[in-house]
Amino acid sequence: MSHEKVQELRWDPTLGEWVMVSNVRELRPWQPHDFCPFCPGSPETGFGWDVLILKNRYPMLSEEPLLPRKYEFYSTASSYGKCYVVIETPKHEIDDISDLNVSEIYKVLEKVKEKYEEEVKDPKTIYFLFFRNKGKEIGVSLTHPHSQIYVLPFIPTKVLRELVNSNKYYSSKKRCLFCDIIDVEKKYRDRIITTTKYWIAFIPFYAHWPFEVHIYPLQHIQTLSQISPELIEDMAKILKKVLCGIKNIFEKPMPYIMVLHQAPIKGKYPFYHMHIEIYGIYRTVGKLKYAAGMETGGGNFTYDSTPEEASQILRNSIERKCIEKLF
Ligand code: ZN
Ligand code: ZN
Ligand code: FE
Repeated sequence: MSHEKVQELRWDPTLGEWVMVSNVRELRPWQPHDFCPFCPGSPETGFGWDVLILKNRYPMLSEEPLLPRKYEFYSTASSYGKCYVVIETPKHEIDDISDLNVSEIYKVLEKVKEKYEEEVKDPKTIYFLFFRNKGKEIGVSLTHPHSQIYVLPFIPTKVLRELVNSNKYYSSKKRCLFCDIIDVEKKYRDRIITTTKYWIAFIPFYAHWPFEVHIYPLQHIQTLSQISPELIEDMAKILKKVLCGIKNIFEKPMPYIMVLHQAPIKGKYPFYHMHIEIYGIYRTVGKLKYAAGMETGGGNFTYDSTPEEASQILRNSIERKCIEKLF
């Protein structure tokens, strides 16, 4: 067994995508069982903050990565990048971001936008991925409310596929694919979860996960830097409503993954339209949908209901559990 330190991107020539490989781990200092590193007053957090963005201490990517090694036949690249943790609130005991009020969620989003504007200036970065994993069922060990940011040296595969397809659509129809999706959803309405002045939330016609909600700005914009304070406020409102609804569909809070898809930092992508995607992954009470043989092995999802039925269930959940909490 070799114990050589490896930290590099490896190219999968069969699928045409990067894999981040690292066996570099700082030694985790011993901590008592009930210690929360994200609570106010911990060595890294200090006091006097509402939202805090910290460097992840166990990152996949690094500002001073090891040199990618040379291999016969295969390609590698540098793991240059940054991994941040966004501590969304000093309140440890809160279950989810939807339990914060709109002005608190606003502060989280504003802070992430600020970070984006800072990272855009780094000539070596290509992509800013903001995401949130929720639920111990999907491996989240620290319960203190937090999300994450990966500043990447490549465009994530899923975003790349969206860029390719929306570019094709734009070239042939001279219209934005995402704007056209908004128009058709507004026309038929059966998959719409809720709308605000500036945003629309719906379960896509082609949803992959049981309770998958996409949230699009009605304005055709590409990145976080184009979002005005008014849009952020409205984004906080729609997020609170949708996440509250998702959380309360079943008796047990729904585990979910949330991600922000925006255009890459470098280059012009006028055909792209930024958006949020949320994947609620319970099929029924306490039953996780797995990405198993067909999904992971074959790459295509099976959907055991219809997105239209799921939309109805989610709208009911919002009506029953969330309306009075919103204002
Ligand atoms: Zn805590
Ligand atoms: Zn658009
Ligand atoms: Fe997307």
